Amino acid sequence: MQNGKDFVEGWEPVSDFSRESSHCLVMRPGSEVLIPQGSTTPSFWWTQEMTPETSWSSYKIGTLGGKKVVLVTAPNNAAAPQGWEWVSMRVFFLQGEEALVHLLGRAAVLTAWNDEGQFCGRCGAKMQVDESEPARVCPQCSLRQYPRLSPAVIMRITDGKKILLARNRRFPGGLYSSIAGFVDAGECAEDAVVREAMEEVGLEVGQVRYLGSQCWPFPHSLMLAFSAEAQGLPEPDGVEIVDAQWFDGAQLPELPKKGSISRWMIDSWLEEQGFPLPHDSL
Ligand SMILES: [Zn+2]
Repeated sequence: MQNGKDFVEGWEPVSDFSRESSHCLVMRPGSEVLIPQGSTTPSFWWTQEMTPETSWSSYKIGTLGGKKVVLVTAPNNAAAPQGWEWVSMRVFFLQGEEALVHLLGRAAVLTAWNDEGQFCGRCGAKMQVDESEPARVCPQCSLRQYPRLSPAVIMRITDGKKILLARNRRFPGGLYSSIAGFVDAGECAEDAVVREAMEEVGLEVGQVRYLGSQCWPFPHSLMLAFSAEAQGLPEPDGVEIVDAQWFDGAQLPELPKKGSISRWMIDSWLEEQGFPLPHDSL
């Protein structure tokens, strides 16, 4: 999944900015975005008569259609101004245009970084923001801290015309999806696919191939999608995965929303195999 053409990444800590020449996005940790109450799209402040709290950090994080995008990061417990509300950006992220998804992903990762990286993890001193790139530097011990990205693998396991889908304990309703997991320290992504498949559904997979990636900023994952092949009866681990089954491409359960890389790779397999794409209410 490629990034949009209209959002161009940039970096500049901002002490003051002009609302007339900026898109201003306000976020707080937990990938929450500030929107007018009842609004269905993320709002940018330049149309509103609002002034950011002075304690909220601001960064220029790029340009959208040539116009500056300023991210205002509010603290974890920040109250919403009157007439506004905090909402999870997940819906906007899944519905959004590619440029908006790119922008929101960058904003969410940087908001988490701003929240978690105020003090040096080595000596405890107050960190200073780097002017040249999104990083913090410790004035005492020179430790550099970059925004955290946590690579995870998500895998489309198939056997001929069948696809393996699983129910995670945390999934709502009757949702089934591809299995996924974080890459361990020192592990390559392909080995993580093999390990996760064995741990979560007891299957030995082969033919592991990279398909694509998606920023998944809840709060800072990078999803790496792979295809793999396997045979045999899945055995859910019973801890994270409560059910796993082989599904015929023409008889699928409820799937993840369009816009997620999981749905993208399931749909692309259905198309390759000549199955109709399932109806999606989104
Ligand atoms: Zn330090």
